[in-house]
Amino acid sequence: MTVIVGLEIHCQLDTATKLFCGCSTDYRDDLPNSHVCPVCLGLPGALPVLNGQAVALALRVAASLGAGVARRSAFARKNYFYPDLPKGYQISQYELPICLGGGIDIETEAGARRVRLTRIHMEEDTGKNVHDAHDDASLVDYNRCGVPLLEIVSEPDMHSPAEAAAYLRKLRAILQYIGVCDGNMEEGSLRCDANVSVRPKGSETLGTRVEIKNLNSFRFLQKALDYEIERQSGVLAEGGTIVQETRLWNDAEGRTFPMRSKEEAHDYRYFPEPDLLPLKLDPAWIEGVRQGLPELPGPRMQRFVDDYGLSVDDALQLAATPAAADYFEACARESKNPRASANWIMGDLAFVLKNSGKSIEESPVAPAGLAALIRTVDSGEISGKIAKTVFEEMARSGEAPERVIRRLGLAQVSDEASLAAVIDRIMESNRKQVAEYRSGKTKVMSFFVGQVMRETRGQANPQVVNELLQKKLAAD
Ligand code: ZN
Ligand code: MN
Repeated sequence: MTVIVGLEIHCQLDTATKLFCGCSTDYRDDLPNSHVCPVCLGLPGALPVLNGQAVALALRVAASLGAGVARRSAFARKNYFYPDLPKGYQISQYELPICLGGGIDIETEAGARRVRLTRIHMEEDTGKNVHDAHDDASLVDYNRCGVPLLEIVSEPDMHSPAEAAAYLRKLRAILQYIGVCDGNMEEGSLRCDANVSVRPKGSETLGTRVEIKNLNSFRFLQKALDYEIERQSGVLAEGGTIVQETRLWNDAEGRTFPMRSKEEAHDYRYFPEPDLLPLKLDPAWIEGVRQGLPELPGPRMQRFVDDYGLSVDDALQLAATPAAADYFEACARESKNPRASANWIMGDLAFVLKNSGKSIEESPVAPAGLAALIRTVDSGEISGKIAKTVFEEMARSGEAPERVIRRLGLAQVSDEASLAAVIDRIMESNRKQVAEYRSGKTKVMSFFVGQVMRETRGQANPQVVNELLQKKLAAD
């Protein structure tokens, strides 16, 4: 079967106020219905005024995705009834969206590939229904009503759940890099709907597509697509036909359920929003936004490969968020050891962050601290093994590595005189092994190294130990 996937992503734009009124968008910790006004509640006579900052952020997105910006776009009313939509319609864009085209390059097993974008349009968010809040009642919170959204629609250019996840990951990274959206899927700042169809290999006719709504994590996206591909292939294999419909992923049961038959555009009775003028954009503004873009994830990833010698996989992981990329670069610069920086960040640091539920911005070890630790290893002050202990202690106490090393007496012993004394003692009490070595069984060398390390609690400089041992064991 050939799998065909297209994604529709809704992203909350990080503006201070809502799309058509002055209500604050910073409502998450506040009481329900405390960020509302006549405009976002859709009270009779209230008139919307477009938020210029939302348009500026939409232009940033367009520029970063190579999308064409329409000099003239327009808002439309999308009519439907639902309790979280007080006006009875959503102000969206329909015939004249703000952007057309563009694309996102993703890394696939077969190499890099481009997923084309169909369109990007602006629209307002809805409120939120809160079910079972009062035993048998559902309540509505309108705080989110009117928050600016960008709907980013891809062409059906993805052919596996892994490609869909790669696309979503890349898109999220770009949105975070350009500072338009925090990309938090759990909190709904980024929401994903997937259109998926299958058709027999070689067949030219498109299969009937099914839309799966609210896939609000990478895990849900992949699991729901896996399930849906199986289900549709099964139906076709038995000679059945796929019903065009909207389905929901139920993670507890590990399957999708029909939600409603797919609505058509005409069901929404779209018509131009009479309360808003068409949006006309000055080309100089569009160009200015393009010029002001920061480095994007793709070029930054490539730079990590070219300048720091990282593998593509490691570079992808480290460039995935601006915070991780900044952390890595600061650490690589200060330690002068990019390879070790990458290993620490993706290994021990990632482990500590995961266990404490912290993001890299909240890391208990700052890039400068990690860089200092790497330098103590590179200078031979401590071994790589001891460094792991020091790192754990740094993460726990927030101390600098030098302090931890001094406090716990962990500095590597490179002093030949004191190591020679340890070796003499060990040779004295292991005469049999000494004799074996001298009769040619040089494999017992590792036995002696182990003994020295045990005596010195792993703090002996292995290179010095090896040299001394070789000298002393060879001498008769
Ligand atoms: Zn309002
Ligand atoms: Mn939408």
